[in-house]
Amino acid sequence: MRALSLTGERTIAVQDKPEPEPGPGELLIRLRASAICGSDLHLYRRAPQAYIDRAVTPGHEGSGDVVGVGEGVTGWAPGDRAVVYFRRTCWECDDCRSGNNQVCAVIRPGYGFGAHGSDAELMTADASASMRLPDGLSAREGAILACQGGTAYAPLVRLGAGGRDRVAVSGLGPVGLLAAQFALAMGAEVVGIDPVAERRALAESLGASATIDPTAGDVGPALKAIWPHGADKLVEASGATPAHEAIPAVVRPRGTAALVGLGTEPFQTSLNGITRWDINLFGSTIYPQTMWDELCDFVQRKSIDLGAVVSHDLSIEEGPRGFQLADEAAGGKICFHFD
Ligand SMILES: [Zn+2]
Ligand SMILES: [Zn+2]
Repeated sequence: MRALSLTGERTIAVQDKPEPEPGPGELLIRLRASAICGSDLHLYRRAPQAYIDRAVTPGHEGSGDVVGVGEGVTGWAPGDRAVVYFRRTCWECDDCRSGNNQVCAVIRPGYGFGAHGSDAELMTADASASMRLPDGLSAREGAILACQGGTAYAPLVRLGAGGRDRVAVSGLGPVGLLAAQFALAMGAEVVGIDPVAERRALAESLGASATIDPTAGDVGPALKAIWPHGADKLVEASGATPAHEAIPAVVRPRGTAALVGLGTEPFQTSLNGITRWDINLFGSTIYPQTMWDELCDFVQRKSIDLGAVVSHDLSIEEGPRGFQLADEAAGGKICFHFD
């Protein structure tokens, strides 16, 4: 089968690899769509030698058709449509059993990280990490929801975003743009914050009432020119320190900020700003797998344009170019197809 491998720093090759066999408890999935995420780029830019030596297949946003079922698997059959949850959790700890497997600490190597991922014609995945894709959603939409869509949706659920809220979204990459669309569909008003003009224009075309360029001046006063009391809720999807520093100026007193964007720098903001204004802060990592059906139902009922975040649809043979485009952050999301 054809599959991608990292062969060095910022180098990807399309290779022939042996077809995998589903082991006990696993499904064999023929991929139809696999999308590139920001976390793939961390590996692309600085791949660990062991990852290169083992020729691990990258990709953790995969969606396809079940073509084989391993020993002991029940409830899945060839022909079913599946989306893979990349974090392989235990389903036995208190967090998993209480429906919060996104924070399970008893994890096995995740797909596209320590285990072979979805940038391949075929992959095996634990049946317990596989989710059903409804007929009303395309494989491409499944790949978008697999990681980034759910990552955008879960913090909005926790924020209780609704029609009375003014929601600011900082960082208008795919997660931020999806969060903006979901918040609007939940009835909120949305203002987007991003230095890239094309991303701001896209957010406005999707329904944001206004956008702010954080490089043009202080974000707080710019936001308060639109919403004098500040944002009721903030989805921080950039992971950038200046966005963290702006939180007390962006969020209204007693408002809440959800931290979604990843970064390597220590979190930094004004402690006195957070305490003086009773601001709430929480972190959010992907989404609980138990939220999948609700997420699929929501995006269908609200006719969310998930494809708006995709800038390039490529074949897997164009893998090196896809990663290069994603690395340059030249456009939106890159999605590989296998037909
Ligand atoms: Zn991802
Ligand atoms: Zn667990």
